[in-house]
Amino acid sequence: MTLAEAPNNTNSTNPFLILNYEPALESLGDDYYDEVAAAEFPLHTLRWRNDALLPLLGLDAKAVTDEDFITAFGKFEGRKPLLALRYHGYQFGEYNPFLGDGRGFLYGQVRGVDGELYDFGTKGSGRTPYSRGGDGMLTLKGGVREVLAAEMLHAMGVRTSRCLSMVETGLSLWRGDEPSPTRSSVMVRLSQSHIRFGTFERLHYFRRPDLTKKLLDHVIEQYYQHLDSEQDKYALFYAELVQRVAELVAQWMAAGFCHAVLNTDNMSITGESFDYGPYAFIPNYDPYFTAAYFDYYRRYSYIHQPEICKWNLEALQEALKAVIPQTDMEAGLASFDEYYLAEYRSLMLKKLGFEQLSQPQADELLKATIEFLKHYPVSYHHFFADMATTFSSKWRDDASSILRDSEIGQSLGTSELFLNWSGIYHRILSDLTPEEIEKVAQTLARHNPKTMILRPVIESIWEPIVQEDNWQPFYELIQQIQSGN
Ligand code: AMP
Ligand code: MG
Repeated sequence: MTLAEAPNNTNSTNPFLILNYEPALESLGDDYYDEVAAAEFPLHTLRWRNDALLPLLGLDAKAVTDEDFITAFGKFEGRKPLLALRYHGYQFGEYNPFLGDGRGFLYGQVRGVDGELYDFGTKGSGRTPYSRGGDGMLTLKGGVREVLAAEMLHAMGVRTSRCLSMVETGLSLWRGDEPSPTRSSVMVRLSQSHIRFGTFERLHYFRRPDLTKKLLDHVIEQYYQHLDSEQDKYALFYAELVQRVAELVAQWMAAGFCHAVLNTDNMSITGESFDYGPYAFIPNYDPYFTAAYFDYYRRYSYIHQPEICKWNLEALQEALKAVIPQTDMEAGLASFDEYYLAEYRSLMLKKLGFEQLSQPQADELLKATIEFLKHYPVSYHHFFADMATTFSSKWRDDASSILRDSEIGQSLGTSELFLNWSGIYHRILSDLTPEEIEKVAQTLARHNPKTMILRPVIESIWEPIVQEDNWQPFYELIQQIQSGN
């Protein structure tokens, strides 16, 4: 395509402005969104550009300048329409009809080189008709935290959106959960879709089965293409959504991730993970670890996540029943536990070094692992990272050498639950050939990153930013996450 034919900003050379934007959601009509304008900011300092995502957009990092990022994703020049999406949602179990994009908008949609449709969604880009009392802004720390969460989860194989850019915007914000005034940013997220469970809940609330069907047809056509020509595509769509969500929550659980705000407006209709606010990776295996300070009843605690995602899927049935027979959806949801357990078991076994074990063996090992982790203040992350870094073929011959070279083994190696766990682990290893032992070492290394963004780690990179505007530790941390070191 020549520049003259470019559908958007015809005289721009900015690679982001001459992408071939598709008006996918826009073409459904304005029942689903409001056109908005971005805020004007006093400052535009590019703090993060995710070059790893550019090839997916067909772009070469060398051909994209920092100024290109700033013009497109800090100043929002040359791109229209910007769409604040309409949605409702169940928040902490209560229906809220006053939601919608209150501090972000859909910047545009493009097809990746993989043929999939992607959204550029903003966070912190100003007020919209849905801002209620909010300022429409994102704190710089909030931006930093979302960038890190997405990169970490991606590195761990979780199906997640990622951040494309983060620009510091020079405002002073006041927040109850950060020392204030605090700095501001605008972040651009690349995700499969920003259509949420709550997008459908809103259409049901207004009793618009026609709009529900139109949006559902769009979702299936774009994100469940392989079902589009099936006769019972609606029932199949819901069944597959159940599977995708069950697998996603299993991925979070194995990664030790607590999302913190699993409201239905934060659940993507594609089953992709997104919107990382007060999340945390669990420090130790405390089932009731709760990441959001305002989650007084621990509704979204670590261990509740599978049950909550199932609850959200069940709530969605109400919104979809005008189009999908409820009995079909009930049948679909009945498979949730099975999908969840299969994925969780498989991922945990990999973290323990095994591609496959017999089910009784797998269950015995997993039970003993969790029992051990639950009863001692052992770091969930360090336990697995130490498995990967200290594993040796000696473990096959001598049970007492298991984790002996790690702090965990040294401090708890004689405890009953450790001995129970290491005895089971040793028994499994002793049946393996030297080649299979080598594979265990590789599997452990592949599935247990050395770097983990526990809260103190995030604080340790945030401190130099606050104190000296030193971003080096932040970039180094991302580099470690992305390279698997
Ligand atoms: P979240 O907790 O980020 O998923 O947001 C829940 C709802 O509150 C969404 O409708 C957001 O757009 C809105 N919201 C959150 N923070 C702000 C803010 N600072 N200004 C305006 N709206 C906000
Ligand atoms: Mg949200």
